[in-house]
Amino acid sequence: MHKLEEVKARIALAAKRSGRDTLPTLVAVSKTRSAEEIRPLLEAGQRDFGENRVQEAADKWPALREEYPDVRLHMVGQLQSNKAEEAVALFDAIHSLDRPSLLKAIAKAVETQGRQPDLYVQVNIGAEEQKGGVAVTELGDLLAMAKDKGLKIKGLMCIPPAELESSPFFALLAELARRHGVDGLSMGMTHDVEEAAMLGATAVRVGTALFGPRG
Ligand SMILES: *Cc1c(COP(=O)(O)O)cnc(C)c1O
Repeated sequence: MHKLEEVKARIALAAKRSGRDTLPTLVAVSKTRSAEEIRPLLEAGQRDFGENRVQEAADKWPALREEYPDVRLHMVGQLQSNKAEEAVALFDAIHSLDRPSLLKAIAKAVETQGRQPDLYVQVNIGAEEQKGGVAVTELGDLLAMAKDKGLKIKGLMCIPPAELESSPFFALLAELARRHGVDGLSMGMTHDVEEAAMLGATAVRVGTALFGPRG
C-alpha cells in the first residue's frame, strides 16, 4: 500500500538522520475511519492502530480482530474514568493516562482483569488550558502514584500546541522521560512525525498521512 510505505520511509529516513538504529512503532490512527478504509492497511501488514473513543473502537474492532488476531489497539484520546474498565479490556496500550482519578480506575481494572495495557502518561507539554495531560509540575507525583499502585509506566505522551514548532516540546518530553527514568515516548503526528522520530519517539501516531483528510 502506497501511503503506508511512504510514511514508513519518511520515519525511517528521519530516524536514520539522527543516528538511531531502532524505529518508532507506527500507530495508524483510525478514528472516524470505517472498516473498509482500515482493511487495506491490515492487508499491507500494519498491525498497530489508534482510536480516540472507547465506543467507536468497541463497535469497529472486534470483527476485524477476528480476522487479524495480532492487531494491537492503542487508546489515544481522552479517557473518562468510568470507561477505564472497558478500555483496559479492549486496548493493548493507553496513551492518555493523565490524572489521579483515571489512574485509580485503571489500577482497579488491571487488578480485576489480570491484564495491563502499556501505559503512557500524557503530559500537557504546552501548559494549554483546555488540553488533556498532567501538568509538568505534577508529573512526578502521578508517576509516584502509579508505582505505588503497582502500575508499570511504559512512557510519556504529548501533543504540542498546534500553532508552535513541535521540536522544543518533543525535546522537553524526552528530557522529562530521562529525568523520571521512563523509556517510551509517544509523540509525532502527520505534521511533525519526522521531528518526533529524530528526537527519540518510540511510538508515532499518524492518521491523515495514511488515510487522507478526516471529513
Ligand atoms: C487524531 C490524532 C492523531 C493523528 O493525527 P493526524 O494529524 O491525522 O496524523 C494522533 N494523536 C492523537 C492523540 C489524535 O487524536
